[in-house]
Order: sequence, then structure tokens, then C-alpha cells
Amino acid sequence: MTAALDRIRGGVPAKRHNARTIAALTANPGCARRAVLDAAGVDKPRLAERIGFPGNFGQSRFALARGNGFEAMLKADDCALLLSVLRDVLALETSAVSYDDLGEDDDATLTARHGRTRDLLAAAAGAALIDHPLLTLAVAGRKVFLEPDLIAFHAGSPSHHPATAHNRTEGGLLHVVEIKSFAIVDGQADSAKVSGAAVQAAVYVLALRRLLADLGHDPALVSHDAVLVCPRDFSLQPTAVLVDVRKQLSTLTRQLTRLASVADLVAALPPTLTFDTALPPADLTAALGQVEARYAPECLSACELASYCRHEAAGSTAALGRPVRDALGGVDTVDEALALAAGTRTPTEEQAEAAALLQAAARLRAEAL
Ligand code: SF4
Repeated sequence: MTAALDRIRGGVPAKRHNARTIAALTANPGCARRAVLDAAGVDKPRLAERIGFPGNFGQSRFALARGNGFEAMLKADDCALLLSVLRDVLALETSAVSYDDLGEDDDATLTARHGRTRDLLAAAAGAALIDHPLLTLAVAGRKVFLEPDLIAFHAGSPSHHPATAHNRTEGGLLHVVEIKSFAIVDGQADSAKVSGAAVQAAVYVLALRRLLADLGHDPALVSHDAVLVCPRDFSLQPTAVLVDVRKQLSTLTRQLTRLASVADLVAALPPTLTFDTALPPADLTAALGQVEARYAPECLSACELASYCRHEAAGSTAALGRPVRDALGGVDTVDEALALAAGTRTPTEEQAEAAALLQAAARLRAEAL
């Protein structure tokens, strides 16, 4: 399987995953093309560029600068401002909160920082804040390093979280803390941004739970409530909210299991298939055609190949979104749907229900006009 994935990738080093790319895996779990490309670690932005459909991904420079400024303000003076909002949202009763900054470093020292994170978590007691922790998660059989903004530990209710004996974190709860630059105005935030942040937080919660299990602790000590810290209203004053990520966790776990079992998908592909970006664009486009895609409008915000897949799916009912695809089961193209609505095409047995729906919609439209 590893050799097949290496060949699919074209022999170059695998593209690294991060919480954002892992979170994006949950956006279109039914797409075989994405599952294969991600499992192989293909550089999708480069591939999209080579075939003439470059994506427009990532935050704007302005949003990045605002986010970095907000985070620096919160973390100044050993996280003094951040602690003040965490105290409220986590109901920290003690004024003594230890603070450990594990620092940022380059690729060569990631393993060492992950080791320091393990040591700190194994020894955590009382209230503590860990800055720049480094976690790991297995994605399609490869270890991926992940860096949540912070991990907060505090003494919680032991009755909720029975801990193992000889466990220094007994009765304590660990929370993933994520700092985001989008505003919470009058207690409300952009729902798409909150749900994106919730999926990313779920990636960290999962990684933290696996680390705790590895250390012999109860994974349930990691709270499913992640803390989101955002600017309040139109100021840079922070506010913190708890976001329940249980639903995102189960989707993510399912999707990661599916990636781990991508072997069946790979085995069904032609044995010479490769996405080596040194190949001519026509060959790469032909290679993409060999792996089934499942385009949906959600791809536009989650996958670097979305422009190409949308172009490829043009004229299909699936390109109009999942509700349309579900309602028009068996009707693959827009032309077919229009002909069935107009009664100029005889529906197959499978299309009968969708045809009745389309004809009723056409009648209503004609009446309304
Ligand atoms: S953009 Fe294409 S490859 Fe990516 S998830 Fe959507 S259909 Fe799959």
C-alpha cells in the first residue's frame, strides 16, 4: 500500500497535514478522489495549478495580521489577559495557574517538543496552561504533528470524569483552547466560521484524547467542550465561549477510519496511475478522470481541487448540491431534469418519483408566472 501511495504521489515527499486540512476531510466524506489524494499526500494546490484550475485558499493577509495581533495581545505577560477570560468560562477557582510555554521550533525539533508536551501532561496537577503544545495524530498511517493554540488544565468534577488510579490528573479536565480572530457580536458569530473552528478543535480534542490514552490516563478527561476565544463586538477585547464538538468528533473519527481503509480504493485503481506534477497537464487531467469524484458546492470552501471538479461536474444535478442530488435520485443531468419536468422524456422506473416532483414544480412555476 505504501508503495502504491508513493507512486500515486509521484515519488515526492508527502504533503503535510495540519488541523485545517484534517478538518477539511470531513467536508465531503463520500469523495473517493479526495480520499485517495489525501491518503497519498498529493500536493493538491500544485496539482490544481498544473491543470489550470488554481484555487484561492487561505486567509487574507489582513485577517492573518489581525489574528496574529489578537493572539499576541492575549498571550502577553504569560497569558495574563487570556487567563482572565478562561477563569470565567472554566470557572477556575484558584488564582494560581501555572504557565508553560513550549515555544515554537522548526521541523527538526518537533519530536522533542511533542515529548515535552507528553511530560507536562503526565505531570499536570492543579490549574495549568500549556502554550505551544505539540500533539500527533495518525492520518492514513502517517504521523501528523498538530499545534493547538493552548491546552488548559484545571481541577474539574471527579464525579463526571472517573479517572484511573495513580493518575496525577485525577478529577482534572483538559480543554483545548483555540484563539480566533472573527468577532462574537452580541453573543453571535458567523455560523460557518464557528463550525469551521469547531471541526479544527475536534481534531485537537481527538489527538489529545489519544495521547492521554497512550499515557495510561482516561481519554474522557479531555473535555468535549473546546474553548473558543474571540474578539468581543467591534473591539479587541476577548470573550470566551465553550463549543461542544461531540458531533464533529464522531464525523472525524469515521472519516479517519475511512482514510485508514483507503487500501480498497487504491487497489481498484489502474496500477500505473500517478499524479506526478511533472507530467503534462493533459496526463494529470486524464489521471483525475480515473478516480471517481463527488462534487458538491461545499467543496468550494474545503478542497483545493474544487474549481476543477466543479468544471468537470457542470451540467450534472450533483453540482447543484446535496439536497438537489438527494431529491433527484436517478436523474444525473440538468438536461434530463428539464426534459422530465417538461414531460418530453419518459422517466425510467427509477426516475418516476423524481419526475413527478419535477413536473409538479414545473406546474407551480408556470402558475406563479
Ligand atoms: S473538490 Fe473534487 S476532489 Fe475535492 S472533495 Fe470535492 S469532488 Fe472531491
